[in-house]
Amino acid sequence: MSYVFPRHSKARYPVACGGQGAYLIDRDGRRYLDASGGAAVSSLGHGHPAVVSAIKAQVDRLAYAHSGFFTTEPSEALAEHLVTRAPEGLARVYFVSGGSEANETALKLARQYHLERGEEGRHHFIARQQSYHGNTLGALAVGGSVARRAPFQPLLMPASHIAPCYAYRHQAADETEEAYGLRAADALEVEIQRVGPETVAGFIAEPVVGATAGVVPPAPGYFKRIREICDRHGILLILDEVMCGMGRTGSLYACEQDGIAPDILTCAKGLGGGYQPIGAVLASQSIYDTIAEGSGAFEHGFTYIGHATACAAALAVQQTIETDDLLANVRRQGTALREALDARFGNHHHVGDIRGRGLFIGLELVAERASKEPFDPDLKINAKIKQRAMAEGLICYPGGGTADGRRGDHVLLAPPFIIGPDHIAELVDKLGRAVDGALSEAG
Ligand code: PLP
Repeated sequence: MSYVFPRHSKARYPVACGGQGAYLIDRDGRRYLDASGGAAVSSLGHGHPAVVSAIKAQVDRLAYAHSGFFTTEPSEALAEHLVTRAPEGLARVYFVSGGSEANETALKLARQYHLERGEEGRHHFIARQQSYHGNTLGALAVGGSVARRAPFQPLLMPASHIAPCYAYRHQAADETEEAYGLRAADALEVEIQRVGPETVAGFIAEPVVGATAGVVPPAPGYFKRIREICDRHGILLILDEVMCGMGRTGSLYACEQDGIAPDILTCAKGLGGGYQPIGAVLASQSIYDTIAEGSGAFEHGFTYIGHATACAAALAVQQTIETDDLLANVRRQGTALREALDARFGNHHHVGDIRGRGLFIGLELVAERASKEPFDPDLKINAKIKQRAMAEGLICYPGGGTADGRRGDHVLLAPPFIIGPDHIAELVDKLGRAVDGALSEAG
């Protein structure tokens, strides 16, 4: 019997009791290779001594002080760490407790920025289908997951969605990746004209789409064109790096690899690596100044803004990534993992695509490779893979709706930045058995 809400699933979950490096350990002593960090959270793995001692030291000194009365040393140090490494122009940080809060904050910040400039008409947000930005009502409104949104209509604020940049499914046979990227980006211009440029406050997108589509990197040139379109119409570009940011793709911020900087960037998950709940919103100096020189205050706030212990943990995570040169390991092991997955699944009849960046990799499963036809959702392929992987002692993050928001299955992999060749061999071996076992069970 579990009193923990909202565990409605009939599945019985093991009780996690310990963590060591890339492994989680349950109450019965079983070890699980954590190949997805839960949902791309545990960037340093579990029980990292530098982070544990930073948390202990901070709690000994000061666990929490309300941001309405004080700032704190760890929140100032963490903000400086983030800003001094951020894409050009991002100069201020607003701390929150997770990804949904970060995106909720970003949407309100964008809205208030336009209000302060006297552009009251800008209240509409454009986002993309098959995206996820969080479960609070504002974040859910811009999210493109039909299933998650449906029960909460008509509470959600108006937002509209363009097609994702998803080469495997949408690139035409006679089109280069670059040409496809530009065509996909131009859907934003069409949508802006449809709703009226003077009504649009912002465009929000994940640079590398995570949970809703199984790690989909953009086509080359896509985000450069998106940036141009936003600039042309005075629309703020908000990049959601909650899942793909903080080193996961091999650069600290994922958008660095696309050669652009947003007006607002959100991050969470890998920021604190799961050691504490924390998220952050990075904003441009001009957004900050517009509000500072206007009404003087962002109409927003949460009790745990800049929580001292959470900031100390995140600072220790981020400093460890730097001192141990873990971004280089992400790139190195990311390449090795891709090669191992290609070797194991490259000719697999039901693996249609293997894609990603760094240690952020997705496998898309299909009923048939040539037609890319997805499996019938009633077969519950992704749920079966999750169950089989757990039985193998492997944590991966399978999901559905991959092909078109309703049908399709994928497996998302996001192992910790500390992994090496032995972990990769174990991961691919166990994943192979889980996928094949699930497929044969489904018939
Ligand atoms: N944005 C993205 C891209 C995410 O993947 C998630 C969570 O999976 C969120 C936002 C929401 O973050 P949280 O669950 O911390 O509220």
